[in-house]
Amino acid sequence: MLTNDLGLFAVIFGGTLVLASILRGALAGEQNHEPPYLDARGLLLYVPLIALFAAGARGDVLVPLLGAIAVYLLTMLGRVLHTPRGLRVVLVLGTAAVLHRYGISIDSLRVPFTEMTFELGWLSLPLTALWLLVCAVLFGRAGTIPSVPFGVAGLSAVTFYLVCLMVPWAVGEPARWLALAVAGVSLAQLPALGQVSPLPAQPSGYAVGFLIGALAVVGALKHTAAIAAVLPMLAISVPLFGVTYTYISALRGMRIGHRRQHLHEVLLEQGYSPPQVLGVLMGVSAYLCLLGLLMVSLVPQAAWTKAAVLAGGLLFGPLVFFVIMRCLWRQGPAMAGEWLPEVQMFNVRLHPLSMEDALARAEGFIREGGPHMIVTSDTSVIVRAQEDDELRSIINEADLATMDGHGVVLCARLLNFPVSCRVPGVDMMERLCAICARLGQPIALLGALPGVAEDAARMLEARYPGLRVTYLHHGYFGPEEVAGIVEGIREARPSALFVAMGIPRQEKWIRRHIDELQVPVCMGVGGSLDVIAGRVKRAPMWMRRWGLEWLYRTALEPRRLPRLAALPKLFFMTMRKALFSPAPRDVPVQPADGSDAK
Ligand code: UDP
Repeated sequence: MLTNDLGLFAVIFGGTLVLASILRGALAGEQNHEPPYLDARGLLLYVPLIALFAAGARGDVLVPLLGAIAVYLLTMLGRVLHTPRGLRVVLVLGTAAVLHRYGISIDSLRVPFTEMTFELGWLSLPLTALWLLVCAVLFGRAGTIPSVPFGVAGLSAVTFYLVCLMVPWAVGEPARWLALAVAGVSLAQLPALGQVSPLPAQPSGYAVGFLIGALAVVGALKHTAAIAAVLPMLAISVPLFGVTYTYISALRGMRIGHRRQHLHEVLLEQGYSPPQVLGVLMGVSAYLCLLGLLMVSLVPQAAWTKAAVLAGGLLFGPLVFFVIMRCLWRQGPAMAGEWLPEVQMFNVRLHPLSMEDALARAEGFIREGGPHMIVTSDTSVIVRAQEDDELRSIINEADLATMDGHGVVLCARLLNFPVSCRVPGVDMMERLCAICARLGQPIALLGALPGVAEDAARMLEARYPGLRVTYLHHGYFGPEEVAGIVEGIREARPSALFVAMGIPRQEKWIRRHIDELQVPVCMGVGGSLDVIAGRVKRAPMWMRRWGLEWLYRTALEPRRLPRLAALPKLFFMTMRKALFSPAPRDVPVQPADGSDAK
């Protein structure tokens, strides 16, 4: 059965791609914003119709497809002839009535989480017609991003198909075929990712919505009480939410003069690109479909279990998507050069610069002369600074406080700051060494166990030809040695001093002696000397890319385990602020050259 299904899916998917490439000119027609706006996507519905007919599908599978094609042609005709909207509504209702005659009908309703059933009798026809109309309108108006209705329909259809596999005794054969067909034709549309069309409603959107409505009726789990109602509602909830949002914004507009806005328009205005909007809406839809599948798997459980899972899933969902949207998609605007000179995170002032900008600033310090301090702020620094007033004022007075760590960047994005990528301290130190080598400026290393600074110096001098390390000292010294160390550094006249004594000891030491030292760049680098000297291995590249370096280091050095508490603590503080305080987005945006930053 599965092989047949996969074959049919492949034929429909491939056929749609082929027809779409033949129709490419017509599909792209809306891009030039010239009337008449002909939406050729609905023609693609002929592919599953022909494929199913050839595969010997019965009438109850073909009729919904024919109905969807009729809806497409009628709404398209209505658009060309500029018929009133009411007439189009009547035509969709008429098509639904025809489907009802062929058995695509809602005959009974079950009260969720109970065994109570109402036979609909004569109400069956108006209710079925209304359901199909609502689905058509919701998908038709789901946005000017044409892939949205098809993307959501594809996910819904895959969900219905999986339900057919999970509970075959409760769902008929026609639903499985229809689900496959809709999944094939819809998912094949996704390569046309995120094109924006000038029109709010799409005839092909109406058609695919009508089809999803019919699929929900055909695939309704007649023997399982709650799911019959819950699953279709979850499947259409993204377009439902989008349209509800539009109407609410229209109501608001009446009162305070805002124009009516679609949900996707708001996202586009916030700086998300059309493919990102599509990704977010598809992500939400995928989450709800997974929730639907979870509900189906709970069919044998008690009603209260199902109700609790549904309520929990619906409550938890927005939180997950809030996090995903803020974290992942903020990269777009930030990468495009829109950045802030500094941000305030929990009374700590940070400079959300990229590595290149941070290095340019540090090179400026070297050329300028005079003492400067760079703090690399990771999660634990920000958390500690909440209780340690001295550390907080050190960071706030530092000439540069970079964001070191995925945790800080993630929390900054949650707070709606368009921050660039993180600036790892060890990488920044190495890049600074390269700059010093190029400029012919010496450096000094202070910290770590005896012998480590020497090894690190050898490695650095070998890696960056021309680099001179003119002062070295380990980090385990008593108060009586401090004056000698400060004097030694002054005499060595380095342009950069890297202090590796751990947070916050290194920052406090630098702050205390910075005026005597007169070093242009003083920077705390934590365990970087151990890494450069080869005493501690760095996480593999894929772990660093995925923000898992902390996991690797903790596995190597279990004594670091208590530090992990900083991330959930900062995350909790961030979520509280992000959800309950206004987003600090309206800070003046500075030019990308950073000339007047700080
Ligand atoms: N260290 C030091 N003097 C001290 C305590 C620590 O030089 O009194 C060194 C230690 O040997 C290690 C570095 O400071 O090389 C701290 O590394 P860690 O990974 O703990 O740094 P963090 O994660 O705090 O940046």
